[in-house]
Amino acid sequence: MKDKKDKKYTMETHLIYGRAFTEKWDYNHHVVPPISSSTTFRLDSVERGAKGFSEFGNTCFLPDGEKPIYIYDRLGEPNKEILEENLALAEMGETAVTFATGMGAISAIFGVLTQSGDEIICHKTLYGCTFSLLNNWYPRYNIGVKKIDMTNLENLKNSITDKTRVVYFESPSNPNLEIIDITAVTNFVKEVNSKRDEKSQIKVAVDNTFATPFCQRPISLGVDFVIHSLTKNIGGFGTDMGGVIICPKKYRDVFMLYRKDFGAVLGSKSAWTIVVYGLTSLPLRLQKEIKSAGKVAEFLSNHPAISYVNYPGLPSFKFHELAKKQMIDYEGNFAPGNMLYFGIKGKDPEEGKANGKKIMDFIAENSYTITLAVSLGHIRTLVEHPGSMTHSMIPAEEQLRDGIDPAGIRMSVGLENPDDIITDLSEALSIIG
Ligand SMILES: *Cc1c(COP(=O)(O)O)cnc(C)c1O
Repeated sequence: MKDKKDKKYTMETHLIYGRAFTEKWDYNHHVVPPISSSTTFRLDSVERGAKGFSEFGNTCFLPDGEKPIYIYDRLGEPNKEILEENLALAEMGETAVTFATGMGAISAIFGVLTQSGDEIICHKTLYGCTFSLLNNWYPRYNIGVKKIDMTNLENLKNSITDKTRVVYFESPSNPNLEIIDITAVTNFVKEVNSKRDEKSQIKVAVDNTFATPFCQRPISLGVDFVIHSLTKNIGGFGTDMGGVIICPKKYRDVFMLYRKDFGAVLGSKSAWTIVVYGLTSLPLRLQKEIKSAGKVAEFLSNHPAISYVNYPGLPSFKFHELAKKQMIDYEGNFAPGNMLYFGIKGKDPEEGKANGKKIMDFIAENSYTITLAVSLGHIRTLVEHPGSMTHSMIPAEEQLRDGIDPAGIRMSVGLENPDDIITDLSEALSIIG
């Protein structure tokens, strides 16, 4: 058969087909999975194609271990699914659905869980684009958004109405590391839900990007949905964007359907780098970065140019005791993460902001181990000035009210030797008298 084919067709055509359809490409024998990069998949027969389409969106009815029928990358392909299995494992959840970016995942959460007339309650301090999504887009679809201070459970109790469908927050929050008592929120919502029918249940969704699954697993604290920007700590090396929702199995199909139709699909090559490099090195990176962040926090908290340091591992931090309860690594150790937020002194917020800007510019020009850049959870230490950068779309008076200090600096500690980070920081801080 093969020989006959070889003669029947020209080399021009063989160069397109080659030996692609042999049994040779057997994933089970790869120590590292190959990069799967195929937008479309052979269906063998119309029947198998029809089966594939009927199974898409109905995978919850398939027996475990059933081989998927891949059709088209936007519906699903192997690299994403290997990553999804491992992410579900890392968060100790049932299943996971990946997206092109963290924002792709966050918009899918609200898109799936709400409809016109519903209401979302969220913590007042949020990642800037999440804030923008909720402020600029959902009101257009007649979906209400209430921003409250969720560090006080009473505020949540007073805000819930019959229309509430989603309670959403980050803990620690971006950028200032406020910590919300996850168990207290989920216990309260459970109590409310016990008096509601299936249709009007409230779901709790947590953006766990700052903590990472290494430091905190919200599903084990009663949360329904966990979101990550894979661009950050999980990807880890700053080479690829991605997002994920970890959720109960019964939600997998609806998120896959949403992803297929809205199109924020994670590229297979990005899925590959996250599964091969990012997730595998996450515990090792975080262990080192937690130690370094502790040292940097200690240095900053004793520095005369610094007004305060928010770091979950610092005993003087307002939320330290709560952090000790819920930020726990896989072995049960306290795992306060690699993110810091600190204030630069000034006689008023304006001077603090100006000093912050001066220090940022000094770092950008002179520091070897600290890079002025947005993003976080990178092997390199990154700093940014939220008041004038990531959170600049939030008006100044709202910034202050929401705890975003104009003089606040956000730092993501990387893998450098912490003494070198402190050397650079010390030099930069010395420029303001
Ligand atoms: C970066 C970030 C996001 C958005 O992720 P992208 O991958 O940039 O879309 C969402 N939440 C938090 C907390 C983030 O830091």
